Amino acid sequence: MQLHFLGAAQEVTGSCHLLRVGDAAVLIDCGLIQGSAKDEARNAQPFPFDVRSINAVILTHAHLDHSGRLPLLVKSGYKGPIYAHPATVDLCRIMLRDAAYLNEKETEWTNRKRLRKKLPPLEPLYTRSDATKAMRRFVAVDYGVMQEIVPGLRMRLRDAGHILGSCIVETWLAQAGVERKLVFSGDLGHTGAPILRDPEIIQDADLVVLESTYGNRQHRSWADTETELEQALNSAAQHRGNILIPAFAVGRTQELLYTLARHYAEWNLQRWTVFLDSPMAIEATEVYSRHAELYDSEAVQVRRRQGNPFEFPKLHFSRTPLQSMAINRIESGAIIIAGSGMCDGGRIKHHLKHNVWRENCHVIITGYQARGTPGRALVDGAHALRLWGETIRIAATVHTLGGLSAHADQAGLLAWYRAFRNAPPVALVHGEPAAMNVLHTLLEQSNVKVWSPSPNSVMNLHDLRLLLPGSITSPASLT
Ligand code: ZN
Repeated sequence: MQLHFLGAAQEVTGSCHLLRVGDAAVLIDCGLIQGSAKDEARNAQPFPFDVRSINAVILTHAHLDHSGRLPLLVKSGYKGPIYAHPATVDLCRIMLRDAAYLNEKETEWTNRKRLRKKLPPLEPLYTRSDATKAMRRFVAVDYGVMQEIVPGLRMRLRDAGHILGSCIVETWLAQAGVERKLVFSGDLGHTGAPILRDPEIIQDADLVVLESTYGNRQHRSWADTETELEQALNSAAQHRGNILIPAFAVGRTQELLYTLARHYAEWNLQRWTVFLDSPMAIEATEVYSRHAELYDSEAVQVRRRQGNPFEFPKLHFSRTPLQSMAINRIESGAIIIAGSGMCDGGRIKHHLKHNVWRENCHVIITGYQARGTPGRALVDGAHALRLWGETIRIAATVHTLGGLSAHADQAGLLAWYRAFRNAPPVALVHGEPAAMNVLHTLLEQSNVKVWSPSPNSVMNLHDLRLLLPGSITSPASLT
């Protein structure tokens, strides 16, 4: 019985864990590495396991840093099931296809340059056809259902409150008379965040694999964040410019629409025309509208009172490139919500180019910005952005709303962990070292056994010993 830490080990993206029980092997997540071009090049490297030896995949949620290499897995020969919540299946259908499309486009662009240099063409990481093949492997499993995945491994999904359909995964492993219960937090939601319920409490485990994205931060309260958003909107209104809101298509966009809809009259929003300029975000919003059974009590009430909780007057969904380009001609009075969330792709880059050099423009940053992305440069106060080889001066006012996170903050992570009655040992994942180290120390100070495994380290689940990559000499040491 072993747990291999293959991805999101001492970093945030590329989630991937491998459980071995007897002869069976099960992956938890198979995510894309996101960030700088150098980081992303690692996605094309071969998987650090024999793909044909994997019997099943459990997917915690649809975000690409958890799901984005599934089409590559299938392209590499994986033929087993991919277990996920029904809403995750719906979201992956949109997101994996979009990721594949972007891969195809980027490769096409690179190959045009390579052709001019007489270099052989490259293949995309995967295509839309690979994404479709991956979707055929999905098996929907509801929250709370106990399911045997392979002999010796049962699992149950619980609501993680992070995005629609997101899961905490409880796993029960049994081999040679030894039983272990492992709980994978997945990405844990922010308690009190709108639309979704708070992360479910779990009370027992032999090992908790805990995300640590914000292990060193406290979020502002949701109420304060709403006030901040209102103030940013008001200051932008005084300057009579446009507001750009780079937003992840799934989760953040719906939180923004929901919040704008709820405060429409109170915040005097009729003075703005709001564009949701992202076909993927539009489709994801439709999925959120369909899964009302996953709403928290407030969203249920909002829906009862006003119908679809993501709609309000003067909200335009722009699907086609022509509709998107038409927005470029608007110089004031528009709120433009577009992807990508970190400004490293998608239509937001065009809107940045057309607006960010204007003094009356405001940018509202609403999510996590990885190192090396234009979004991070905006947050860090850069004076210029490089977009398509052109240097664009930044004259816009940049607002960063820290509290709009889909992740639990330090207090949230600790509170969720402390609900376990037996203070189980913890392996920290999904965090940059600075965040992870703070949480590591805090847990250690309360006498919890804690590891921050380096990539490719392996936990022997019989005696909970962590073997670092350099110390793994023979398969025998891993039984
Ligand atoms: Zn996530």
